[in-house]
Amino acid sequence: MHEMAITQGIVEICEQHAGGRPVTAVVLEIGALSGVVPEAVAFCFEACSSGTVAEGAKLQIEQLPGQGRCLACQREQRIERLFDPCCHCGSYQIEVVSGEELRVREIEVED
Ligand SMILES: [Zn+2]
Repeated sequence: MHEMAITQGIVEICEQHAGGRPVTAVVLEIGALSGVVPEAVAFCFEACSSGTVAEGAKLQIEQLPGQGRCLACQREQRIERLFDPCCHCGSYQIEVVSGEELRVREIEVED
């Protein structure tokens, strides 16, 4: 369960950016191909943020779709999982264009 470590990293980012002020909201972007389960992050956030500036902050998770390009037929397509074949030609040579990201997009702090 690496979501716990990931969530601790998110809380650390909050602490670095909040300058000691309480964090009211955090917006996360999680790519469909990142291997991270949004529900697990939301669950861990409760525990990890307890006693920090991020305690009680509203966690908003935006899921980004996976996007890949087939190296055989050059077509871009939406991909749900890594290692799925090309939906046009069946090739497994798919290059991931996006969807592996996991980042904190926004942190709101109290004035
Ligand atoms: Zn293809």
